[in-house]
Amino acid sequence: MSHHTYPKPKTLAELFLQTAERYPDRPGLHPGLHPYSYAQLKQAAMEAAENISRNHSGPFVPVMADKSFVCYTTILGALLAGKAYLPLNPKFPEARNRFMTEKAQKGSLEIAYLEDPGRMPAYLLFTSGSTGEPKGVAVSQANVCAYLDFMLEAYDFSPEDRFTQVFDLTFDLSVHDLFLCWSTGGCLCVPDDNSSFAMAKFIKEVKPTVWFSVPSTIMLMDRMRLLKPDAFPSVRLSFFCGEPLYDSTVEAWKQAVPNSRIVNLYGPTEATIAISRYDIPANAEMVKQEMGIVSIGKIFQENDYLLHEPSQDKRGELCLSGKQVVDGYFDNPAADRQSFFTDNAGKRWYKTGDLVREDAGGDLFFLGRLDAEVKVSGYRVNLSEIESVLTAHPSVDQAVVLYKNQNDGPGIMIAFILPENKDYSNEPEMDAWCRTKLPWYMIPGKFIFVDEIPLNRNGKMDKQALLQKYYDGK
Ligand code: AMP
Repeated sequence: MSHHTYPKPKTLAELFLQTAERYPDRPGLHPGLHPYSYAQLKQAAMEAAENISRNHSGPFVPVMADKSFVCYTTILGALLAGKAYLPLNPKFPEARNRFMTEKAQKGSLEIAYLEDPGRMPAYLLFTSGSTGEPKGVAVSQANVCAYLDFMLEAYDFSPEDRFTQVFDLTFDLSVHDLFLCWSTGGCLCVPDDNSSFAMAKFIKEVKPTVWFSVPSTIMLMDRMRLLKPDAFPSVRLSFFCGEPLYDSTVEAWKQAVPNSRIVNLYGPTEATIAISRYDIPANAEMVKQEMGIVSIGKIFQENDYLLHEPSQDKRGELCLSGKQVVDGYFDNPAADRQSFFTDNAGKRWYKTGDLVREDAGGDLFFLGRLDAEVKVSGYRVNLSEIESVLTAHPSVDQAVVLYKNQNDGPGIMIAFILPENKDYSNEPEMDAWCRTKLPWYMIPGKFIFVDEIPLNRNGKMDKQALLQKYYDGK
C-alpha cells in the first residue's frame, strides 16, 4: 500500500498540473542529455495547448511521437486543451500514419459524447489487427485514471523515482510510463537508442528506479551477456507486460537487479494498459508458473472477468468488463460485433482472444492466443504449448511454432529455434525431446535453427517476419 495520499485524478491534464504545482523544480523529463523541470514542462505544455486551441479543430491531435521534448509537451498540450492525442510513429510507413490521421478525422465526426470530460478520449491508438485494417481504440480519461488509481495504491511510488520510457508512444504501455511518472513527481528517463548495449549503458548512467518493458528486451540483453550480477542496483521495481514472461527471464533479470521487486502485468489495449498483475515472490520455488510461463495473477478490482465456455479444469477465453475496459472500437461496428458483447444485465464485455486457466487460488495463467489454436488431423493444438516444451530444453533459448497451410496437402507445423549456443542445430534431438513430452500430432514437422527472432515495432516477437526470413517453403 502507498504511504502517500494522492488526490484521485479525474483527467490526465489535471493530474499533470497538480504534480507540476507541487514539484516545480524537480526534473520531470530526461531525454538524451538534458533534464527538464516540471516548471519547464508545464510552461511549454501551456504554450502548446494555446496553439492547439487556436489552430486545431476536432477532438484528436496527431503528434509525431519521436520522444523529443516537443513531442511530450505537445501530448500534454493536447490534453490541457481538452483534446485527445493521436500518436503517429516516425518509424511507421507514411501510409500507415496517414491512415490513422484520416480515420481519426472521419470517425470523430460521429462522436457525440465529447462534452462529458470523464468519457472524453485521452488517446486514440490503433492495434495491429492480424487480419484486415488496424482497429482504433479510443481510451477515455476515466479508463486511464482507473488504471493509474489502482497502480498508485498498489505500489509505493515517490518523487524520487526515475521511470524508464522504453516503449514507443504508439504502444499503450507508454501511457504507464508517462502518467504514473507525472502523477508522482518522478522523472521520465528516455533512452535514445533501444539496442541492448545502449540500454545497459542507459541503465548504468541514468539509474532508473522503475523499469518497464516487454520480456523480449530482457531476453535480448541476456543473450548479449549484459545481465551481470548486480549490474543495475538502482532498479527497485520492474514491470513486464505485453507477452508471456518466462521463468527463465525472471531468473536472468533478478541477477542484474537484486534490489528489485518484479511484477508481471497483463492486458490488452482495449482494457487500458494492464488489467491483471502477479507480484513475483522472491523465493523462486514459490513462483506460480505453468510450462515455464509466469502466472498473470489476478484482475484489478473495479474490473470484472469471466471465462467464456470454460472446460472442467477452468480453461477458457478471458473476457473483461469494468472501469478500464472500452465499450467498443473506434468507429468500427463490425469489429465490435466480433469482440464485444452485452450480457443480460446490460454489462459490456470484451473478448480478449486469450486462452487462460484459473487455479484454485484465483490466479490466472496465460496459455496462448486462441488464434494460435490449429486443427491437426482433427486434434486441437495450441502452438504455445509446443513452444513451452521446446523452450524448456537446455539448449534452447527461445522457440516459436507456426502453422503453415500448404496448397498440396495438410498444413505443417514449423518450429523456429533460437539456440543458447549459436552453433547448435540438432534437429533429431529436438524431435526426440518433443516426442517424450507431447502426443504425436503435436510434433512439429520441421525444426529451423535461427540466429535471431525478429521483433515488431512494439518489441514483441514478429511471427510473419520470422517466416519470411527463414522459411523457404520446403
Ligand atoms: P496489445 O493490445 O498489443 O497490448 O496486446 C495484448 C495482448 O498481448 C494480450 O491479449 C495477450 O495476448 C498479450 N499479453 C499481454 N500481456 C501479457 C502477459 N503478461 N503474458 C502473456 N501475454 C500477454
